Amino acid sequence: MSEQTTTPQDAGPPKDPSTAMVRAETVHKSYGPIEVLKGIDLEVRQGEVFVLVGPSGSGKSTFLRCINHLEKINAGRLWVDGELVGYRQKGDRLYELKDREVAQKRRDIGMVFQHFNLFPHMTTLENVMEGPVQVKGESKADAKERAMRLLERVGLADKPRSYPSQLSGGQQQRVAIARALAMEPKLMLFDEPTSALDPELVGEVLDVMRGLAEDGMTMIVVTHEMGFAREVGDALVFMDGGVVVEAGHPREVLANPRHERTKAFLSKVL
Ligand code: ADP
Ligand code: MG
Repeated sequence: MSEQTTTPQDAGPPKDPSTAMVRAETVHKSYGPIEVLKGIDLEVRQGEVFVLVGPSGSGKSTFLRCINHLEKINAGRLWVDGELVGYRQKGDRLYELKDREVAQKRRDIGMVFQHFNLFPHMTTLENVMEGPVQVKGESKADAKERAMRLLERVGLADKPRSYPSQLSGGQQQRVAIARALAMEPKLMLFDEPTSALDPELVGEVLDVMRGLAEDGMTMIVVTHEMGFAREVGDALVFMDGGVVVEAGHPREVLANPRHERTKAFLSKVL
């Protein structure tokens, strides 16, 4: 079978000219006739904590799914770490990635969801070891050593043998973060990681995320936690109806929103 060359989306230079970790240029995404992303432009720099906020249905999760190869964009261009998502470049030609290659790319991106999605029949330790052993073929001894270090990092060194059902929501979410980190991602995506937690458990998860930020991890965080955005965020984008309405430094946007839609949204979450 010969390889298909394609010209993705618009013509133009495929290489990301910047050193951004994520770069979106007029990204469009539709589900059938419904356009969910209507031309997203943004840039997430290396080492940055990039906060994405907006009302329900504005396309935040869809955008994260596009970055993580779970959805294909319909138009525009999207790069992760300098490479067009979904394509491989050979000379000046682009080839659509095969499923196996997509799986390879996805290893570099960690994702943490609102619902922790741990394997219920596995212990904490087994959950964190699973990816490195099954996907990367790492030895159990190495995976265990790293998993224990990561559990320590998320404050759960005393829980390696607990099952998810024996942990609080905050603890489960910290295991989920450790599990994502075990794959040594270069980018972490957080989709409302504290939205399902009881209020008293939110802080312990945000503290782990703050630690990651201090260690230089590049993170895109969808959240309604504006305190976290203000204190930890380097950039903030407010999305509504599939477009970027406003962007800037979190402290600036939160203190001084320019657009009515941003003001209306912030008045509900602040
Ligand atoms: P947010 O995360 O900001 O709440 P989403 O990205 O989840 O927004 O959803 C944006 C819009 O896209 C919503 O109207 C949602 O119903 C729609 N949508 C999301 N996923 C799908 C899908 N797989 N098929 C059809 N519509 C979808
Ligand atoms: Mg969402």
